[in-house]
Amino acid sequence: MVIDEEEALNFYRSLHWSCGVYCPSCGSFEINNRGGRGRGKRYYCEDCGTFFNDFTGTFLERSKIPFGEVLWILTNIHNKSVKQMAEELGHNRKTVARYHKLIRDLLEKNHVDSSFDGTFEFDETYIIAGRKGIKKNVPFDEPPRRRALKRRGRGTYDVDKLPVFTIVHRGTKYTIFLVLKNLRKVVDGIVDEFVKNEAIVHTDEYVIYNNLINHEKVVAHYTVNHGEGEYAKGENHVNNDENRHSLLRRFLRIFRGVSKDNLQGYTLLEQFRINYKTDSYDMILQTIVE
Ligand SMILES: [Zn+2]
Repeated sequence: MVIDEEEALNFYRSLHWSCGVYCPSCGSFEINNRGGRGRGKRYYCEDCGTFFNDFTGTFLERSKIPFGEVLWILTNIHNKSVKQMAEELGHNRKTVARYHKLIRDLLEKNHVDSSFDGTFEFDETYIIAGRKGIKKNVPFDEPPRRRALKRRGRGTYDVDKLPVFTIVHRGTKYTIFLVLKNLRKVVDGIVDEFVKNEAIVHTDEYVIYNNLINHEKVVAHYTVNHGEGEYAKGENHVNNDENRHSLLRRFLRIFRGVSKDNLQGYTLLEQFRINYKTDSYDMILQTIVE
């Protein structure tokens, strides 16, 4: 794998200094170029006498790896595990993992909570995740849906099988994944937070949804009974949620061992990708170089 670091840095500068080079301390544009190549490009502020470089005050300031490789990690974050990336880059796994976490934290910071009116699908799934991740080759998959629907052995944080509550707004397809410690008692709060004024809600028959219709914002609640082969009756389905759950599982399979305390970070990354599609990398990049 060949990454052209000069090209990567030119790209970085075109974003970071799009208005011209300015002093990170006082904002002055009276800047002297003090030379240096690659990472070493240095500047001097005529107004306040500060020396700085292309990365001063950014996420990349103390970077151990070149910008081109940060870009590469960013663009591969959905296709390769930390281990694979470390091997291909020839870096310590910890170093790559650190970037991976930083990028995920950026995603979290830039996460926009949205509330909508209209039709929603609510559904829950369970993801296996332990204290330090899970053992190799243990699939993330929940037991087959039918079995899970027997209401016995639903997951909780304590048994390393975390409930993920998924909300899809049908009009926009906007998706929200919430990793919860316990599903009960949270449904009202979810409606409060994600419904602006009025909602029609589709769910399965799980008892946690029984009181939905009593919520002041819920104008109608339809339940789909998976158990009786009534998978998708016209409008009454949670197929968008099912689709999101598949995407989430496929994404999590890249990582051999997700810690249960980190699961929300991973789900946010996938949520971000689903909601912003190809624009997501540009958005993260913009945040990194700001
Ligand atoms: Zn200055």
